[in-house]
Amino acid sequence: MGPILIVMENGASGFVDSSKELITKGREIAKNLEISSIAVGFGQDAESQLKNLPVDRVIAITNPELSQYHPLAYEKTLSEIVKKEEPYLTLVANTTMGMDLGAGVASSVSLPLIAYCNQVAIAGQEVVATSSVFAGKLMAEIVVPKSGAVLTVMPGAWSATEDSGSPQVDVLSVDIPPSMRILRTIEPEKSDVDITKADILISVGRGIEGPENLTLAEELAEAIGGVVSCSRPVVDAGWLPKSRQVGKSGQTVKPKLYMAFGISGAPEHQQGMKDADLIIAVNTDENASIMDIAHFGTTVDMLELMPALTERLRGE
Ligand SMILES: Cc1cc2nc3c(=O)[nH]c(=O)nc-3n(C[C@H](O)[C@H](O)[C@H](O)COP(=O)(O)OP(=O)(O)OC[C@H]3O[C@@H](n4cnc5c(N)ncnc54)[C@H](O)[C@@H]3O)c2cc1C
Repeated sequence: MGPILIVMENGASGFVDSSKELITKGREIAKNLEISSIAVGFGQDAESQLKNLPVDRVIAITNPELSQYHPLAYEKTLSEIVKKEEPYLTLVANTTMGMDLGAGVASSVSLPLIAYCNQVAIAGQEVVATSSVFAGKLMAEIVVPKSGAVLTVMPGAWSATEDSGSPQVDVLSVDIPPSMRILRTIEPEKSDVDITKADILISVGRGIEGPENLTLAEELAEAIGGVVSCSRPVVDAGWLPKSRQVGKSGQTVKPKLYMAFGISGAPEHQQGMKDADLIIAVNTDENASIMDIAHFGTTVDMLELMPALTERLRGE
């Protein structure tokens, strides 16, 4: 059986925690199955970052042009390593980068991809990965075939390792064609507020009807001490920036109070807010899915309720 290959992702300062979490589990599985653990890292600092990791061996690919993620360059480089090392498991964090890289490498080397894993367990001589499917509605248990697989693991599945070690260090420099180099990086717009840090979210959906009604939400948010977030159609229409979007392709939030105004509660939306401490849904349709997860719900018209609530909160 081949080794466990753990792919380390570069963050703003060192490896991201979700990669260090993979080390914790990767090492445990390797020990149980009596196979070796290898960590691979990219970029000019790879060697110094990797050399004290608590694994058996590290592979530092030190091309400076790999310090930043480039989908094709990373896929090409990692695929070559996977072909050479023939790992049993290739563990990648289920981050924006990892989802892209994991899928690309799996397809390039013809290995199965098991995505959205939140548990990896050993059952006898087999490894069973639990994958969250249908936006978290089902958990699928998948036996990893003996021929190996690429697993993308959800951040937070395990605690990040704080251990250190003295692995064997292999330093490589690979050939990256000019077409696979980053020319320049454009930073995304800085968002005005971080909705993941807010205790109270006044979240609006398509029921808001148009940008002219957003003032109602902003005034209510101000009166209650919260901030405005939204569902995806509101962002798609250009009424609020992407940084305010809650859900699968937006932010995951866990406020003390989540007030959903005119949001139907599609699975993709619920995925980002279902763990809020208190959910209050305002939706004229009593059968809207949001009512299934709301602690309290009302079918009054949001466009009437929002100004009335604001008035009451202001004591007017
Ligand atoms: C890959 C993928 C990723 C996605 N990611 C996300 C994501 O991150 N976040 C997200 O939100 N969606 C996401 N979606 C879209 C998602 O499937 C839904 O289309 C979306 O969440 C619906 O938004 P909504 O509830 O605002 O609109 P609708 O589904 O149209 O619901 C509007 C609701 O407002 C109610 N309403 C209308 N008028 C009023 C009124 N006056 N008072 C009270 N209630 C009223 C209606 O009864 C209705 O329930 C994604 C979809 C896909 C395929």
